[in-house]
Amino acid sequence: MEATARNGSQDVTSRVTLSGLARAIERIAGALARADDSMPDPNGPPPLPHSSIGRWGVAGVDPDRSHYPHDRENPQHNTVGSLRSTTGTRHSNMDGILRWVRQLLSRIEASRVRSGWRPEQLTPASRRQLAWLHFLGTDGNLADYLRAVRSARALFTEVAPLARWRRPLSIHFLPTQSLYRMRTTDDGTRILLPTPMIVFDARGFSELARVMFGRRRHGRDAVLHDLMLGPSYQAVQSQLEGLGGGGNDTRGRIHDLADSFARVNAACFNGQMPPPRLMWSRRVSTLRFGYYRYANDTVTISQVLDHPDIPTFVIDHVMHHELLHKKHGLRWQNGRGHAHTREFRAEERSYERFHEADQFLRRLARKR
Ligand SMILES: [Zn+2]
Repeated sequence: MEATARNGSQDVTSRVTLSGLARAIERIAGALARADDSMPDPNGPPPLPHSSIGRWGVAGVDPDRSHYPHDRENPQHNTVGSLRSTTGTRHSNMDGILRWVRQLLSRIEASRVRSGWRPEQLTPASRRQLAWLHFLGTDGNLADYLRAVRSARALFTEVAPLARWRRPLSIHFLPTQSLYRMRTTDDGTRILLPTPMIVFDARGFSELARVMFGRRRHGRDAVLHDLMLGPSYQAVQSQLEGLGGGGNDTRGRIHDLADSFARVNAACFNGQMPPPRLMWSRRVSTLRFGYYRYANDTVTISQVLDHPDIPTFVIDHVMHHELLHKKHGLRWQNGRGHAHTREFRAEERSYERFHEADQFLRRLARKR
């Protein structure tokens, strides 16, 4: 997997593309779409230990070694070409696919160490692809994925008018940003859905099928929209974004919002707060030190706080305030969104250094 940061320098602006990864992902999703016929039911009894080794071989890979053996004479041979050759392997069960995913991840990591690129240098597309791979490699997610493939296929088959698709129907949950895509060829119909839709239950897939196959009616999308903004979907979305290994978004010059979130989550929310997306604002503002967007579950912190003179407890206080918005939700009062309720304010003051931090921000707002 060639990923060359230009001249291996520390130039953050050089963009790294993980070429070949999109294709590998397509192959893996293809195997997963086909998998449900030959694979054990993920809800059924666990497979016998090591039953799959030997059947899922990836050419040239020793499964007990974490690194892909590489060609020292021709380092370029360690890259896309060899990746492509490994992804044609047919996998017969879930263990096999999981090991396939983890092998790819360790090869990407080896390539990263060799070439010296950093995750934050990846193009957004490569970052989404890498996140998808990490997500599937995480315990339990592959079983959820397969469950969703089965559920979606059963429901779509039931709802879809026969004239609109061709057997076999294959379902792919991919790092796509569209609501759905459908392609019919002689080989059948492929339906591409965004990865977080693996959390959909039967109702979710039924609604989706009505949007995809039915006559669009007003209000239909609203149901789907609500589901996509629901906590399960958003949790997967956040997890995927976190796994992208970005760092661009959370790491400022001085402070890292991911660290702040981790501290506040542990200290104030018992570690139970699902991570929102975290961003520094583009604009430097002292009017608003932070805000929370319900629609995309994002905490944005003003860039003005990314400064050596700003102590971390002040950033944590702003983080705490914004996370309380997420926790309390928007309450409507007299036709206006009124989020700073009495309970909100009371809980806000429970932050250990609330008064100190509040005073600090007041002074800062006056100074500018
Ligand atoms: Zn507020």
